[in-house]
Amino acid sequence: MTLAIAAVWMFGGVPESANAAGASDLESGPSAPITPVPAPPDAVTKPLDPPPLETFVARVRRGDTLSDIFERNGIPARDLQLLIDSGPLGKRLENIFPGYEFEFGRDIQANLLHLKYRPSREETVEFQRIGDRFEASAVVKDPQDVRQYRGGRIERTLFSACQGVGLNDQFATRLAEIFRWDIDFILDVRTDDEFHVLYNEQRIDNQFVGFGDILAVEFINQGETYRAVRYDDGKGGIGYYTPDGESMRKRFLRAPLDFSRISSDFNLKRIHPLWKSEMPHLGIDYAAPTGTPVKASGDGTVLTASKTSSKGNYIVIGHGERYQTKYLHLSRFARGIEQGKRVQQGQVIGYVGATGWATGPHLHYEFLVRGVHLNPRKALSTLPQTHPISPEDRVGFDSSAALLLAELDNRKKSQQFASLDAAR
Ligand SMILES: [Zn+2]
Repeated sequence: MTLAIAAVWMFGGVPESANAAGASDLESGPSAPITPVPAPPDAVTKPLDPPPLETFVARVRRGDTLSDIFERNGIPARDLQLLIDSGPLGKRLENIFPGYEFEFGRDIQANLLHLKYRPSREETVEFQRIGDRFEASAVVKDPQDVRQYRGGRIERTLFSACQGVGLNDQFATRLAEIFRWDIDFILDVRTDDEFHVLYNEQRIDNQFVGFGDILAVEFINQGETYRAVRYDDGKGGIGYYTPDGESMRKRFLRAPLDFSRISSDFNLKRIHPLWKSEMPHLGIDYAAPTGTPVKASGDGTVLTASKTSSKGNYIVIGHGERYQTKYLHLSRFARGIEQGKRVQQGQVIGYVGATGWATGPHLHYEFLVRGVHLNPRKALSTLPQTHPISPEDRVGFDSSAALLLAELDNRKKSQQFASLDAAR
């Protein structure tokens, strides 16, 4: 994932640390009065005609050293040495990385007056020339959370719909993971599904630096609305709950594969000629690249990890007395997976393959209740919830959830009005 950070600074005036000669001249721009302003009394002690400042930004390319950048921009190598000699912050300039952006300020003789860059999204390092040396300073700022809303409609994939409203793939994955006990994002997402999300955007100096927490989210899947709100109990317990306070976490994951590992191409290819020969077809087939991790959909015990000519490498997990899940055609088992082994929900148990009767790599997944095959979509929706919000958190949760959901609804409505206005 690439995080695009617009990081171009321009001198907005006197730098905070600038009490160097000529600093007051930096403020005079095109709107400066033509009549010379009388110099302040202490100006006589400073050099005459302080050099004008030119600023530009240079981006570090792969393989660049700072001396390459200095050379490319005609800045004397001696100035680089002065920077490095300025102390520990100067030494850090010996390790620079592609994507860093250096803002240079120089005088008309191309001497460096000022250098500024951001080694991380939180930190800004500045070097200011004072006579024949540089003074270095670093400022670390915590990102500020700014609440944001985005809503989108799926045309092709959740990823592309999220990208369409400025949310990256990692955000889309986080959004989907909140609903991974309710929605199979590999097989069940359809055109015209919708999402609405209230989240924190992280900013430093009012510039976007990253996505923070998802606070409240709604996903409409095939006409059915699912909602979740984040709750932090202040004692280290943070989770997502339904508006009624039931944990989003449930006994079984809807899909034993991560949707983010499977491209939409694979989804489209999921009709597979050989499956017709598995009559009756008692499971769900996920076409996925060989090697895609397969996860236990619930806590349980491995009843079988074996191989037959039709099933290939397969695993059966028992989840208590009532439930079993089966995973077929695996290329291999995960390390340590064998009969009798306890596994946890989400634990990788094996990898997608095409062993047994399979003409292409896919996972054949079965969900059984008391030995009877059921469609997980139907079976899981009737399973009792397991973790409601605790009684002592009830009041706090109710008020927090109500506020977040009201804000989500308001933002959603105002966006819909806005798009109606735009359509007129
Ligand atoms: Zn199958």
